[in-house]
Amino acid sequence: MRYVYDFDDPEGAGRELLGGKGSGLAEMTQLGVPVPAGFTISTDACRAYLAHGRRLPDGLEEEIAEHVARLEEKTGKRFGDTSDPLLVSVRSGAAVSMPGMMDTILNLGLNDEAVEGLARSTGNERFAFDSYRRLIQMYGEVVDGIDGHRFEQRLTDLKQAKHVQHDTDLDADDLRGLAGVFKSIYREETGRDFPQGARDQLTRAVQAVFGSWDNPRAQVYRRAHRIPDDIGTAVNVVQMVFGNKGDTSGTGVCFTRDPSTGEQGYYGEFLANAQGEDVVAGIRTPRPLVEMREALPEAFDQLVETMATLERHYRDMQDIEFTVEDGTLYLLQTRGAKRTAAAALKAAVSMTEEGLITRDEAVARIDAASLDQLLHPMIDPHAKLDVAAKGLNASPGAASGGIVFDADTAEARGRDGDPVILVRWETTPDDIHGMIAAQGILTVHGGMTSHAAVVARGMGKPCVAGAEGVSIDQAAKTATIGGRTLGEGDVITLDGGTGRVYLGPVELVPPQINEDFETVLTWADDFRRLKVRANADTPDDAAKAREFGAEGIGLCRTEHMFFGEERLPVVQEMIMADDEAGRRAALERLLPFQQGDFEGIFEAMAGLPVTIRLLDPPLHEFLPPLEQARDEKMRQRIRALQEANPMLGTRGCRLGVMYPEIYEMQVRAIVRAAIAVSERTGEAPLVEIMHPLVGFEEELRRLRELTVATIEAEGEIEYLCGTMIELPRACVRADEIAQHADFFSFGTNDLTQTALGFSRDDAEGKFLTYYLEHDVLDRNPFETIDRGGVGDLMRMAVERGRGVKDGLKIGICGEHGGEAQSVAFCHELGLDYVSCSPYRVPLARLAAAQAALAESGAAQYVAAGG
Ligand code: PEP
Ligand code: MG
Repeated sequence: MRYVYDFDDPEGAGRELLGGKGSGLAEMTQLGVPVPAGFTISTDACRAYLAHGRRLPDGLEEEIAEHVARLEEKTGKRFGDTSDPLLVSVRSGAAVSMPGMMDTILNLGLNDEAVEGLARSTGNERFAFDSYRRLIQMYGEVVDGIDGHRFEQRLTDLKQAKHVQHDTDLDADDLRGLAGVFKSIYREETGRDFPQGARDQLTRAVQAVFGSWDNPRAQVYRRAHRIPDDIGTAVNVVQMVFGNKGDTSGTGVCFTRDPSTGEQGYYGEFLANAQGEDVVAGIRTPRPLVEMREALPEAFDQLVETMATLERHYRDMQDIEFTVEDGTLYLLQTRGAKRTAAAALKAAVSMTEEGLITRDEAVARIDAASLDQLLHPMIDPHAKLDVAAKGLNASPGAASGGIVFDADTAEARGRDGDPVILVRWETTPDDIHGMIAAQGILTVHGGMTSHAAVVARGMGKPCVAGAEGVSIDQAAKTATIGGRTLGEGDVITLDGGTGRVYLGPVELVPPQINEDFETVLTWADDFRRLKVRANADTPDDAAKAREFGAEGIGLCRTEHMFFGEERLPVVQEMIMADDEAGRRAALERLLPFQQGDFEGIFEAMAGLPVTIRLLDPPLHEFLPPLEQARDEKMRQRIRALQEANPMLGTRGCRLGVMYPEIYEMQVRAIVRAAIAVSERTGEAPLVEIMHPLVGFEEELRRLRELTVATIEAEGEIEYLCGTMIELPRACVRADEIAQHADFFSFGTNDLTQTALGFSRDDAEGKFLTYYLEHDVLDRNPFETIDRGGVGDLMRMAVERGRGVKDGLKIGICGEHGGEAQSVAFCHELGLDYVSCSPYRVPLARLAAAQAALAESGAAQYVAAGG
């Protein structure tokens, strides 16, 4: 078995074995882009290591030695040499991008003697000892698990003692001393001296990187990003190139387009006389990339050219790491750039216009779920607000919440449902769980590529990074922002789009949709087969839905209309009535309200179908809690209506069967509204009347009879009369039910509840979160359709329903209708439409197109940032 591949190995081994970083380095090498020499130890070796009790597989050490020998040949230097040593970096790299989760050790191969050799051979003692102290720290952290702050603190102390601000202000003697201090920290922590053998260092580093695949923070990250546990990481061993050799050296990161906006230009950051870790860790704040043009003009031109080569090659926006050593450019990494939804859209549209990709590729590569970002609330741009602090606009969107200073508190408060803003000097991978729980993230240090920025962007959360004017007293749990000292729980607002921080909560406005958004969605519309409707109960929501491209209303929940201030007392009167006559009298007074509501919705949706669902919830929902009952009679009625399992009780069509006068009134209101709107506008509404919670043929037979008779008594309209399919029995007996239905609409909220036996009100707060965290379930079935259970029931309903009624119209109106994977499933099932909340309509349009493209094999789905 072969485990190790040189970057210039013509055979290559692919991303799965080499990881994203390794395959990128190999591909760049083949493209002729300047890359340091090196090799990759495959994910196979990692899996073997973890499977066999953390033992390197047989033969691996010898194979590594062979490739080190080749590296020595290529570089003309020897590993472990004490006069002019070959130094390498060791980095993890999985097949799936896991930004912020990388393990890195630089300058491996240095020891007490070699550092003197490096000082002599480079004529730069400062550089040599700077490299050595970095090795000791990174090696100590990654291989021996020493807390990095122990080292950082000593560096900070040293700078304070010398009254200097920057690492670069420290001289050779300072750094020589610091290396000695770091070695003693290493000895104190491990009980051993810092290892002096280069090969020994390498072996232990490889083992540590493999082992890190299983550490808790990596597991949390994988769970949050749904990355399988068994793919393992590769290890890249790369010849060191140095950005900290003086003024003609430097390091940076760049994007081929702006990752926030997608605009073309020179976007990135550069730091002269520094190594990459300084930038990524946010220890020093880098300069804009354009400044490199003056500092290192030739390397800059070469970089710009290379950026274009890479973007053409990958046909996608790239995120690049580079180092310049004594004026020579080296690319250290390229990968699909993580980008905001706005940037993804702009880049996809412009690349299509540039002829780099096709329309179907443009549509296929937008992450549908990320469209949400664009639809997030923002701070009203015209609001006059005092800015308390300013940082980088690291990730867009706005959020308000109580300050928390650590990830555990963020998680605990988030679980209680409190909106929180995580405020940190800088974030590390150990903060992941807190970042997941927080509404927004504020850091004092770090740039656009710092951990906080990259991770927040990936999560679609607002982040303001590098707000240097903020200071934190971690022990006292206070932060000073804009001259005010705030404690835990004090509310602040972040605007991740501008980098501004405000004190207190701030009014947010709905987001704006731009031209690129419209363009991509219009392209998507050409590919999709599923229609997209919206769930809307008011004319305003209906209008919003239409703006977002809804092609009708798939669910208008009429119960919401029973709650208005003037209406609720009448509804209560109806419920309190002693007999049918009393109920009818109250319903008669409700009718004009319902009619007015329907008229508004029909007009907002002119020309498009509107599915109106008759009353669904248990009646007790319209009465106050027992303690607030106004009199004894009401108390009695509340007690009488009480049920142990109201969601399985007297609700849905059972109400219509027991109290037909309720549905009769609703149907009359629908007919009168339809006729009124027809007369007023000259256009007849497309009315679809829907019965909820049907489980038996006989229920729907009776209700259809009632519906038809009521309509005929009122006048003449065109309409369909159908049913929700939201009980397992309805799926199984869909053939019988279909006899009485003009359409089906899956209510997957109730269908999930009843098929899985999971209460939709309680499951998440009780056991479901545990199930998800402990991998009993992979996804929340209330979010993504449970294909195995609910999905099979749906399939049965489609087959049996259409078996008796060819081409029966079938849609879905549960929450799943606005979730990308569930939309794909509905496409596979051959449904006619999905219906979801207005804000998710764009997402559903895109997801439906992607499902159609995936089916036709026209374009491979590539989510942004792969
Ligand atoms: C459903 O059950 O999926 C549904 C759409 O109806 P509701 O959420 O109103 O019960
Ligand atoms: Mg339901």
